[in-house]
Order: sequence, then structure tokens, then C-alpha cells
Amino acid sequence: NSATSKKVVLVTGGTGLVGSALRYVIENEPVGSPYGRQDHEEWVFLSSKECDLRDIEQTRKVFQKYSPDKVIHLAAKVGGLFANMSSQHTFLRDNLLMNDSVLQISHEVGVSKVVSCLSTCVFPDKVTYPLTEDKIHIGPPHSSNFGYSHAKRLIDVQNHAYHDQFGNQFTSVIPTNVFGPGDNYELHTAHVIPGLIHKCHMAKKNNTAFVVFGSGRPLRQFIYSRDLAKLFLWVLREYKDIDPVILSVAEHDEVTIKEVAEAIVEAMGFTGPVEYDTSKADGQYRKPASNDKLTRLMKESGSADFEFTPFKTALKDSVDWFLANYENGA
Ligand code: GDP
Repeated sequence: NSATSKKVVLVTGGTGLVGSALRYVIENEPVGSPYGRQDHEEWVFLSSKECDLRDIEQTRKVFQKYSPDKVIHLAAKVGGLFANMSSQHTFLRDNLLMNDSVLQISHEVGVSKVVSCLSTCVFPDKVTYPLTEDKIHIGPPHSSNFGYSHAKRLIDVQNHAYHDQFGNQFTSVIPTNVFGPGDNYELHTAHVIPGLIHKCHMAKKNNTAFVVFGSGRPLRQFIYSRDLAKLFLWVLREYKDIDPVILSVAEHDEVTIKEVAEAIVEAMGFTGPVEYDTSKADGQYRKPASNDKLTRLMKESGSADFEFTPFKTALKDSVDWFLANYENGA
């Protein structure tokens, strides 16, 4: 790369939900501040249009082009509960191939650190809550997304194997349910928050009922994408383990799907009826995760207490983004 003293941080999946939040944080926090860009860094946000990471040759070319010092690996085939249930094999294989290319080429070209993104669905279905980092491999994942979950679990296995055999500093993080501006609002594949924002918007426009899938009783811990982006930066700079760290709001900050639906109704000023379609799946009832490891290590590294954006503020940002962007782009 041109500026030889610059160190490149390459973000795969750079235009996705978390990638665009990282870009936002990097561009908006002051240079040199805890969550800002460092002076010697050059950030590159890779999109699937530039490189199909399932193809190891394309991956090698793009890594040769940018010669990254560090990699944040966010690229993944992702989808909500219903997309996963309908395409287990695609979720398994696309993710296996991408992860293998990114880690193997990072190893080949001497990337000094890779932080990959897992998901709480890697955890066993039958497990004692709260989820902690040591429980990933102790039983099979929930059947609704076993393809995706196994591919993601393997990243942790790969990280350990690279570290064991070659000493690579490859690690991973486990965010809880992420949402924010730039999310996937496409109804068939969306996660619950963007899906419900879109459906509420349609219901308002067409004067119909706002239909929420399932009973509304399941609980989730949601993390705002821009908060998650900041935590990624802390991991990139300060986190030393190979084992993953959970990036989440506190364990007691779970909300029900019904509360999510009601917050969306409020944020969008919807006045029509809200219905629950219990013929649709609820998925896992709850999966509370502990952020104790994160909180302890952030304290030990001298970082200030992390302040999460209040749920309703973050939801409002997401609704505003949808209203400003979706219909134009759709
Ligand atoms: P999960 O956390 O991996 O299960 O992923 P989701 O973000 O897809 O959350 C699913 C939860 O929200 C389940 O309990 C669904 O039944 C519920 N839900 C309600 N309405 C919707 C919807 O329109 N789309 C999605 N994806 N989930 C919905």
C-alpha cells in the first residue's frame, strides 16, 4: 500500500450491519481517542462486491492488494430464524468456506491479529444460563440454525489450532442480537427488530394489523451496532485471549419480543391493532449471556466503564434510518 508507515486494518463484511457501524465510529470518534482511529492506521472496509471470500484465490488477491496488519472478520452468511430454518446447508457451507479463506490467508500473509465474529447461537441448546465463554462446545446447538452455529463454533476451534501450531493471534467475539442503522430490512431474511420495523411501517401505510411472529414471550439481549463497534475496537487493541469474549449488555437487560414490538409501535406512531401469529416459531425462549468477562477485562485494561446506548434511543436511530433510506433504496 502507498503510505508505507500506515498499518492497514481490513474489515471483511465491511458494508454490513456491524461493518458500517465500525466505519461510523472510526469516522466520527476523534483520532487517538479510545474508540477512534489511531494515527498510523488505515481502515479498509471490504464488501462482497469486491471479493467473494468463499473463494480462497480471490481472498488471497485481495489480501495481497491491501496487506493488512490486522483483520476484523465480520463477513458471514447471516439471516434471522426463518432464513436459517430454510437453508441449513447454505449457512453451513458459505460460512465454512469464508472462515477458512480468511483465516488461512491471514496466516499465510502474516496478519498480526484477527478478530472474528461469532454469535450467541453457537451455544448449546441445553445449557445452564447465563451463557459464559466456557460453555460453547459442551452440547449441540439449537436445531433451528445448526448449520450456521456449527460453522461459527469452528472458528473458535480454528483459532485454537492456528495458535497451537503456529502461534497466531486469532481470536473471536460473541455479540448478542445486534441491530442498528444499515440493517437488513428485507422481510424474509431480517432479524426481529428490522423485520418488525418494516412490518409496522407496512401496516401503518396499508391500514392493516401489525403482525408479530410467535408468542411475543421470547427474551433477547439486544446490542446497538455502534456500541458493538466500540467494543470491537477495545478487543482489537486490548484483548489478549484466543478464547472468545461475549460482547453484550448486562444479563438483566433482556427484553421480550412483545416489548420490542411495543417500542416499535411507539417509535413509529402506529395506532392500529397488534397481533401475535402463534403459528410461527418462537425459536429459543431465551439465551441470556453474561458480560462479566468483558466488564472485568475492560476494567483491568484501564478502560472507563462502558456506557451502552439506551434501547429506545438506539431503536429510534434504527427506525429513522429505515424511514430515510429504505424506501429510496427498495
Ligand atoms: P434469533 O435470536 O436467532 O432467534 O433471531 P431473530 O432476530 O430472528 O429473533 C427471533 C425472535 O423474534 C423469535 O422469537 C421470533 O419468533 C420473533 N419474531 C417475531 N416477529 C418476527 C419477525 O417478523 N421476524 C423475525 N426474524 N423474528 C420475529
